[in-house]
Amino acid sequence: MNRQNSNSTISRRGFLAGSAVLLGAQAMASESGTGDAREGSAREPWPAVDGPFVLAPLPYSEDALDPHISAKTMSFHYGKHHKTYVEKLNKAVEGKKLAEMKLEDLIVETAKDPAMAPVFNNAAQAWNHTFYWQSMKPKGGGEPSGKLADRLKADLGGMEGFKKAFAEAANGQFGSGWAWLVVEDGKLKVTKTANADTPIAKGGKPLLVADVWEHAYYLDYQNKRADYVTAFLEHLVNWDFAAANLG
Ligand code: FE
Repeated sequence: MNRQNSNSTISRRGFLAGSAVLLGAQAMASESGTGDAREGSAREPWPAVDGPFVLAPLPYSEDALDPHISAKTMSFHYGKHHKTYVEKLNKAVEGKKLAEMKLEDLIVETAKDPAMAPVFNNAAQAWNHTFYWQSMKPKGGGEPSGKLADRLKADLGGMEGFKKAFAEAANGQFGSGWAWLVVEDGKLKVTKTANADTPIAKGGKPLLVADVWEHAYYLDYQNKRADYVTAFLEHLVNWDFAAANLG
């Protein structure tokens, strides 16, 4: 079993960014056998996955985002959904050159070929989820400061404009998908993608993401996606992560 492979890193930018350096945490844990950089009281072991691509540990315990996202949701979302994407990806690339690529490069490569959609979907979902866990933190929300605050003001009309645009993108995404804060053509922009699609497939630079697949919120909010999106914006957003991604 290989739980640590440098090919499986999320973007270098994302890898280095923020307080929750997922694969760094995993590397530490793997090397020491005991290390665990996650926040929170409980320290659940993260599920192991066989293959070149790893399921990175959560940057906090499964109950750390409660009551906004319950431990039950996290347990299913991370321990079942995210884990399955990584497992299916590993199965799909078995014995292929793709198994030796960095995850981000594999996403860009497979996005170009409709015949590779099954590999792309699992690869993009694996990456998107790792980015999503880092986009949140216990006692998150509030407002960014410094450069990111200035950019939000200049490009999106400040926090009010950002929240409105982000909520519209998240709530307006028909069916499954993701709402993003990205840098595009040198400006901050709110965008949305359907299903597994991800801005990095076309060389985009995401700062934050909210998962708006039903599995992200249905156990806690049932059909009320807007309430989950409000909780994400008010209580969960990890602005330190977004600021680090902005650079
Ligand atoms: Fe999800």
